[in-house]
Amino acid sequence: MIKSEVIKQILDHYRVIWALGHAQALMGWDTETYMPEEGIRGRAQARAEIAELLQKLTLDEKFVKLIEKAEEEKDLGDVERGVVRVLKRDLKYYQRVPPEINREFAKVTSEAFVAWRQAKEKAKFEVFAPYLEKIVELSRVIADKLGYEEHPYDALLDLYEEGLRSRDVDAIFSTLEPGIRRLLNRLEARGWPKSHPLEEQEYRREDAEAAIRDILEMIGYPKGRLRLDVSPHPFTTGIAAPFDVRITVRYPPKDFKEPLMSAIHEFGHALYELGVDESLAFTPVGTGVSLGVHESQSRFWENMVGRGRAFVERISPILRRRLSFLDKYSDDDLFYYLNVVRPSYIRTEADEVTYNLHILLRYKLEKLMIAGEVKVAEIPELWNNEMERLLGIRPRNDAEGVLQDIHWSHGSIGYFPTYTLGNVIAAQIRAAMGFVDEAVASGDFAKIKDWLRERIHRWGAVYPPKELVRRATGEEYNASHLLAYLESKYK
Ligand code: MG
Repeated sequence: MIKSEVIKQILDHYRVIWALGHAQALMGWDTETYMPEEGIRGRAQARAEIAELLQKLTLDEKFVKLIEKAEEEKDLGDVERGVVRVLKRDLKYYQRVPPEINREFAKVTSEAFVAWRQAKEKAKFEVFAPYLEKIVELSRVIADKLGYEEHPYDALLDLYEEGLRSRDVDAIFSTLEPGIRRLLNRLEARGWPKSHPLEEQEYRREDAEAAIRDILEMIGYPKGRLRLDVSPHPFTTGIAAPFDVRITVRYPPKDFKEPLMSAIHEFGHALYELGVDESLAFTPVGTGVSLGVHESQSRFWENMVGRGRAFVERISPILRRRLSFLDKYSDDDLFYYLNVVRPSYIRTEADEVTYNLHILLRYKLEKLMIAGEVKVAEIPELWNNEMERLLGIRPRNDAEGVLQDIHWSHGSIGYFPTYTLGNVIAAQIRAAMGFVDEAVASGDFAKIKDWLRERIHRWGAVYPPKELVRRATGEEYNASHLLAYLESKYK
């Protein structure tokens, strides 16, 4: 597959970068799962040193020259071109953003995280505001250094989702916003369940975990390559795709759909990393291509499979075997429990109908801040007004409103739209596949997984996200499939 001598040399050098990334990933996983608390004192140091070493190896003069030389090569194959493309993206940030800015950004965000936590505890935005101001200011400098054509926000978007522009995001929301609000009004008028008694039901962690393991096994759990553990926030990490992938969930004392649905969500992420072609292992293209495409995989399994009627009927006997309190409830109950639709303040608790309105809210505010069109001090009021307009509810304080998510304190501006993009791509995949419900009803999960592996997973990062989606679904990003899916499900 690799014929070019230059690319072979690049991959030789890259294997060391890969190995350090592998160590970072494993340390990251351990930090969130089994590390004793005080271990952080050593872990933070080790990870910082390795991060610096990684940067040095990436910017190594000989390596950079090889990448530039490879760019000139004619007749590169798809995989070879993918290698050059991904490495050039890695280099771009380091080459254009001066190290002083990075150091300043790192300092501000580490202080901002502490300030955000205090601000949230006190429900006082003012505590966090000066840090957010600084983060916005630095993000604007970074956007200028990286360059953009239409809007400074585009430069930041591109950091998280290759090739995504605010013009794409605007187009997506111009379809979703009116459609979702129409649907919400209809559900309200028809009295679709806004809550369910099972949300208050306590369960034993061992029972939920046993059910989750049975369900993942039914879909096809590759035991030799995947682990399921517990952490404060569920996540997936490809330690060495496609050979070693880890997922985690958490078990709050009541409402078992939380661990169940997040296990299926993370399993979707995991299948992507597990499905990357083995020949791409240890190369820059040997992993999922972007956050948006990754989220499409998790949301596809969580929502389009996991919350569907056919799936509820499949998992009902498994759940009933483990969770005896379900005796009182029908499969219909179970379906409504998994598909409660309720406008809420908190994005992470949002159902699949209201979820994207939370993303729209953040996207709007981020874009305004980056364009310098609003002051940070105006954000909480704008937030509350916008939430009231979109979801019909008004946060009672800043903790419920603008301070709920950690991302801004990390400096992650431009990140949220990838969540909605993931939902949009998931629905495109569902439409292109055309057999999801029948396959689930007959228990033929292999058919779904084969489609995904063939058209998405096996390619890793060989193609940029837009091209991959076009190849897989035959279309550009198109939000109308998401709307059509929601409308047909919530009829
Ligand atoms: Mg996810």
